[in-house]
Amino acid sequence: MPQPFDQFCPVCHSPNVERRAIGQRTGCVAGGVAGAALGASGALSGAEAGALVGAVGGPVGIALGSLAGAVLGGLFGGAAGCAAGSKVGEVVDQRYLGTHACQNCGHAFTP
Ligand SMILES: [Zn+2]
Repeated sequence: MPQPFDQFCPVCHSPNVERRAIGQRTGCVAGGVAGAALGASGALSGAEAGALVGAVGGPVGIALGSLAGAVLGGLFGGAAGCAAGSKVGEVVDQRYLGTHACQNCGHAFTP
C-alpha cells in the first residue's frame, strides 16, 4: 500500500519508498506461537491447583476450570509473546532487514 512519504531511496533517489516490517511481523507470529504454548502449559499446572479447589464443584467444575485456564493462558501467553517477538523483530528490521524498501530499485534500508 503506497503512501505519501518524505523519504528518498539512498541508491536511486526515488521517492517511491514504502515502509515495511518483515522482522516485526515474523517476530509477532513466532513469539505468539511460543508464548501461547508456554502460556497454555503454564496454565495447565495452574489449572491443577485450581482443580483441587474446584473439586468441591465436582468433575464438571474441574473440567471447566482446566479448560478456561488453558485457553486464558494461551491467549495471554500468545499476546505477550507477540509483543516480545515484535520488539525483537523491530530491532532486526532496523539493524539488518531495513524498515523501508524502495519500490523502484528494491533497495532496503533504514533511514
Ligand atoms: Zn531505489
